[in-house]
Amino acid sequence: MRILLVEDDPSLASGIRLALKPEHYTVDHLSDGATALDARTEGEPFDAVILDLGLPRLDGMEVLNAVRRHGSHVPILALTARDAVDNRIAGLDAGADDYLTKPFEVAELKARLRALLRRSQGQTSSLLSCRGITLDPPTLHVRYQDAPVTLSRRELTLLQEFMSHPGRVFTRDTLTRLVYGWEEDVESNAIEVHIHHLRRKLFSDVIRAVRGIGYVMDKPAKEEA
Ligand code: CA
Repeated sequence: MRILLVEDDPSLASGIRLALKPEHYTVDHLSDGATALDARTEGEPFDAVILDLGLPRLDGMEVLNAVRRHGSHVPILALTARDAVDNRIAGLDAGADDYLTKPFEVAELKARLRALLRRSQGQTSSLLSCRGITLDPPTLHVRYQDAPVTLSRRELTLLQEFMSHPGRVFTRDTLTRLVYGWEEDVESNAIEVHIHHLRRKLFSDVIRAVRGIGYVMDKPAKEEA
């Protein structure tokens, strides 16, 4: 899961990043509204946005309005320092899916984010299940044919994305952004290496290469359906 965090308070931003990292989110951080809007309108593939409403250059509320005007349905969790009920209502009206008033507990932020992501994926149960593999997002426990499987953080990120969208073909660029965000110096074969490990730890055709395009996790065979 890739999250865009837009927050101009550097210590709060680094606190949120630190808190989300063990949950295996890839968090990219921007500190002003104008840059955030550029990232959104350029179609960067984020699964959710944590958006401070009080931002320099372009106010968070304006970012929110513009993102929704562009037709994006990305889940947005608004952060507001302003305790006024008016602001929260305006934020929700402008298209935020949920909001948190500062100061907040990191545990609450995590819970709200999880709920937001679950809702956006239309999952009634949070357990992902496909082709004999189960993945429980809150605990990140993976089992294959009922036996536990140990995966690295990045392998988990990839597997969760594939399992959330069986049948969808992902380009290598999309997967690289998902796993590494805007980190630089990513080895050009990094995604291949992670997929190789997933095949070894699960089964050989768990993720299939689509020549010239990328990778896909096939849906369960039709005859089984
Ligand atoms: Ca702020």
